[in-house]
Amino acid sequence: MSKETTRGGAPREERLSANEIRPHRGSHLELTETAHCEACAKPCVAVCPAGTYAWSGEQGRILISHENCLECGSCRGICPYSVIRWKNPFGGTGICYRYG
Ligand code: SF4
Ligand code: SF4
Repeated sequence: MSKETTRGGAPREERLSANEIRPHRGSHLELTETAHCEACAKPCVAVCPAGTYAWSGEQGRILISHENCLECGSCRGICPYSVIRWKNPFGGTGICYRYG
């Protein structure tokens, strides 16, 4: 991530580092269908503020780092094929926001 600031505020990395992510072994994110991903413009990669999605040309699929997720919900809305299944992380895991 770049060191962006908002009107004189702290850099984004600094603000995000105040949060805690409690990872769970299982992923709360999954793709119900992957056939469309290769030809898709991959807005899931662009929209995620946490870098959760990455396209692997070598593997020909989207890789998901669910432990990065900030639970903003943007990916569910932007996938043109509605193939992203997003569940609340298992109890007690996931993002814990410190400020806000
Ligand atoms: S937006 Fe949806 S269809 Fe497109 S690459 Fe991401 S998961 Fe696949
Ligand atoms: S819910 Fe938000 S942070 Fe989590 S994977 Fe989707 S876009 Fe990224």
